[in-house]
Amino acid sequence: MAAKREPTFRESVDLMFNRAVALTDLAPGLEEKVRVCNATYTVRFGVRLRGQIHTFTGYRSVHSEHMEPVKGGIRYAMGVNQDEVEALAALMTYKCALAEVPFGGSKGGLRIDPREWEEHELEMITRRFAYELIKRDLIHPAQNVPAPDMGTGEREMAWIADQYKRMATTDINYRACVTGKPVNGGGIQGRTEATGRGVQYALREFFRHPEDVAEAGLSGTLDGKRVVVQGLGNVGYHAAKFLSEEDGCKVVAIIERDGGLLDEDGLDVEEVRNWIARHGGVDGYPQGRYVRDGTKYLEHDCDILIPAALEGVINLENAERIKAPLIIEAANGPVTAGADDILRHKGTVIIPDMYANAGGVTVSYFEWVKNLSHIRFGRIGRRQEEARHDLIVRELERLNRGIGDVWEMSPDFKQKYLRGAGELELVRSGLDDTMRSAYQAMREVWRGREDVTDLRTAAYLVAIARVAESYRAMGL
Ligand code: GLU
Repeated sequence: MAAKREPTFRESVDLMFNRAVALTDLAPGLEEKVRVCNATYTVRFGVRLRGQIHTFTGYRSVHSEHMEPVKGGIRYAMGVNQDEVEALAALMTYKCALAEVPFGGSKGGLRIDPREWEEHELEMITRRFAYELIKRDLIHPAQNVPAPDMGTGEREMAWIADQYKRMATTDINYRACVTGKPVNGGGIQGRTEATGRGVQYALREFFRHPEDVAEAGLSGTLDGKRVVVQGLGNVGYHAAKFLSEEDGCKVVAIIERDGGLLDEDGLDVEEVRNWIARHGGVDGYPQGRYVRDGTKYLEHDCDILIPAALEGVINLENAERIKAPLIIEAANGPVTAGADDILRHKGTVIIPDMYANAGGVTVSYFEWVKNLSHIRFGRIGRRQEEARHDLIVRELERLNRGIGDVWEMSPDFKQKYLRGAGELELVRSGLDDTMRSAYQAMREVWRGREDVTDLRTAAYLVAIARVAESYRAMGL
């Protein structure tokens, strides 16, 4: 079969944007301003490694500065290119607007396979890349704040923060130059799991609305729903783990780089993850049916499909064969514009990326605020203080049932709370609030307007209106 013409990732994002913006009365000039990517910086730098100079290519794209700092992760992968970072930066703008996180959109990437390099080599490469970006204010607490993405994590963020600190020695806010740092290095509890947690909260919110669930041809609660997940990286792993351990979902298939596993009785996410860590892939896992072409399992009959890996995996080639009635886009851009048309006509409900994976940047915002306030999170405002107080009292009551004065009996316990257990609780409830109100904003448009038939268009409409409003407020 001849390959079908698929637009690039950025074109795909623009097509979806255009579909939505056509339903607004935005002036054409403003429409163009909201859509375009402001600037993309490309850098090629050399690092001497293993006795020779290796040249790496990296990008940082700034989509929209209607709010600053601009925000978005840094991706390490061989497929990184300008089109991809620009698409991802655009999605960051819309994501932040929809989640009401007061940032503009940005994204970075480095063309590298991190598995090919030793840790100390990766540190040298990361520091050099960070140096190039810091020099141009493309990493800066008030202007541009990166975070982890595919192929990076808290280790890389710690190197970046340290590099910034070395170069901006008098900046008391240096820690706020990047989020997703280790907890003992200025990070915040719950950030690592935040995107996966957000996917869980998004699904919980969706299932609170029986009409929305019926729209996907489903009914009831999350309990017992059959889930297929693609990608057991940070996002897919946490989403699948929480949904199976806390909401009664059954993970019937897991798709990884080297193949897929299928078991109608349900797979243990934690065990599969451990297997991957030891063996580098899912091949050989003692349970389930393994196939080398794991993407076949995207087409498996299930209730909820969670693409949590790369963009473009559901495309013109396979969209027609996708059976899941509900797709939640844990990854950015997993469904191409063409596939989106096909699925929409089939009646598939898609919970769009800019909403579904907004948990990461939401908790990044908490981390950034924590860093700038120089106060332990949870001691910022009265409401938070009260929330912490309530939590402590509740927990004390639980432990204290009939025993006596816990404060006296367990100073350790008091210490524990004052040191941070309250932080995690606050992060989770703040994330839950955000996911709920963003869903409601999106839903109002989806349900309230006759010309809007899908959640993605609704999400774009909410985001576009908010970004346009900021531009107007700036006098543009
Ligand atoms: N890389 C994540 C995303 O795509 C997180 C971005 C952030 O926290 O700034 O949303």
